[in-house]
Amino acid sequence: MSETKLRDAIARHGRSLYQRRYAHGSSGNISARLSDGFLITPTNSCLGDLDSARISKVALDGTHVSGDKPSKESFLHLAMYQERPSAAGIVHLHCTHCVAVSCMCHANTADILPPITAYYVMRIGKLPLLPYYRPGDMALAEAVRGAARGHHAMLLANHGPVVAGKSLDDAVYNAEELEETARLFLMLQGQKTLFLTEEQIAALREAFPS
Ligand code: ZN
Repeated sequence: MSETKLRDAIARHGRSLYQRRYAHGSSGNISARLSDGFLITPTNSCLGDLDSARISKVALDGTHVSGDKPSKESFLHLAMYQERPSAAGIVHLHCTHCVAVSCMCHANTADILPPITAYYVMRIGKLPLLPYYRPGDMALAEAVRGAARGHHAMLLANHGPVVAGKSLDDAVYNAEELEETARLFLMLQGQKTLFLTEEQIAALREAFPS
């Protein structure tokens, strides 16, 4: 996809996510990989009101190339792109249900959501919970980098998810699937629930290898 089309796609997805309350205020950021870096939503921008021409361009060494100043969280995206050559788009949100789940106590932080639906298993699979870091703490970049080696999706404690995809569209759909799964997870608290079995998950992996 051309850079112009990617810019328009970021603005379109941003508006859609904002209008459906996946993002609020100036929270959340969206990026798309280019051959020589990536495009990312600017700092303090509202996903609902992006100007595609002003979207920031960042080189793969983190240098700001053009456009408005990039999101303060662009280092999350940079770490993910550097570790995952297959990541073509990344979405980071402060979406309500994921943030709620990120504040809960989890016995196994290597994978915090159960296999509720086939779509969750196919789009996300495993979801590690990373520790809390204050905004701007660069130790978070290293935590994301470490998790990105084995995962395309992760949840930052008391903060929100970082989700990559094989394309920008794929990253957005993965992020939406994760937020809806977090919502279901909260709805199912205290209910007797059947999750997918190991056999059902194995059958999915066989039918839809990633
Ligand atoms: Zn954030």
